[in-house]
Amino acid sequence: MGEFGLIARLAEAFAKGGQPSGLVIGIGDDAAAWRASGVQLVTTDTLIEGTHFRLPHVPWRDLGWNALAVNVSDIAAMGGIPEQALLTLALPAQTEVADVDELLAGMLEAGKEYATAIVGGDIVGCDTTMVTVTLIGQALVDDRGEPLLMTRSGAHAGDAIAVTGCLGDSAGGLRILLGESAGSAEAADCLKRAHLHHRPPLAAGQMAVRDGVRAAIDVSDGLLQDLGHVCQASGLGAIVHAQRIPISPALRQAFPQDALALACGGGEDYQLLLAAPPGVIERVQGKADVPIAVIGEMVADRQRRVRLLDEDGRELAPPRAGWDHLRGAAWRR
Ligand SMILES: [Mg+2]
Repeated sequence: MGEFGLIARLAEAFAKGGQPSGLVIGIGDDAAAWRASGVQLVTTDTLIEGTHFRLPHVPWRDLGWNALAVNVSDIAAMGGIPEQALLTLALPAQTEVADVDELLAGMLEAGKEYATAIVGGDIVGCDTTMVTVTLIGQALVDDRGEPLLMTRSGAHAGDAIAVTGCLGDSAGGLRILLGESAGSAEAADCLKRAHLHHRPPLAAGQMAVRDGVRAAIDVSDGLLQDLGHVCQASGLGAIVHAQRIPISPALRQAFPQDALALACGGGEDYQLLLAAPPGVIERVQGKADVPIAVIGEMVADRQRRVRLLDEDGRELAPPRAGWDHLRGAAWRR
């Protein structure tokens, strides 16, 4: 079909997704143009075949959905509103047009779910399939028009640490997609879905920032690692109570031995980790459309350690099943 044919196809597909109100020029010119106000947010993420996904384990439609969803997750972690996205596709010459259509359809579904328009992009030939999405959004503002943002450096000693949803499901799903048989068919489906179809809790992030949460990160590399980024940026340590980490019944059933390790370090959860005074977290818990579990607290610690404690307060060694370990080894073998 060639680059120009594909771009026309892309433009046609994305036009169906509707245009954001501030858009002046969408796909088809040298650049997109839109009216902007307030504080803009921008983030980008690349998914590479063989590193982040492997076809055909990941259906094209899910790939399109996830390519946008992982970027929405970053905007959610800032407490912002996603608005428009750019898509860069690197595709081998033999790629089927039907597969590209599926990818676009998946991305459009995510765009609809998260009220995001795709306003442009690029297509290049390449030996490897790569999907890059750049997402532009906006910060919410307070009554005086000042931006409301959650940052990695915004935590204070005494803050409660909370996470949305359940952790580890996506990593468990990856293991099943890679051929491990575990748990009931129902549990396996649920875990695979978590891996193939990330659902970042965007509304909860916006609610949190409105209610006064000022520190957050999205859990993409694994709970302990991402919490480590908050500790580094905030100059604090963190204590996590292992038994309070939300683990789904499906994960417990499929991987009874590894459930905690997967929840602590599996990665690609695309849930939110929040740090705020306990009363603020309680307020958000009462209103959010997703479960929010308090799992620990931020503490003064010059060494900025993340410590995992068991029920008796004894320190546990970080269970091993991190992103590098799991993904690096699994995808490349
Ligand atoms: Mg992130």
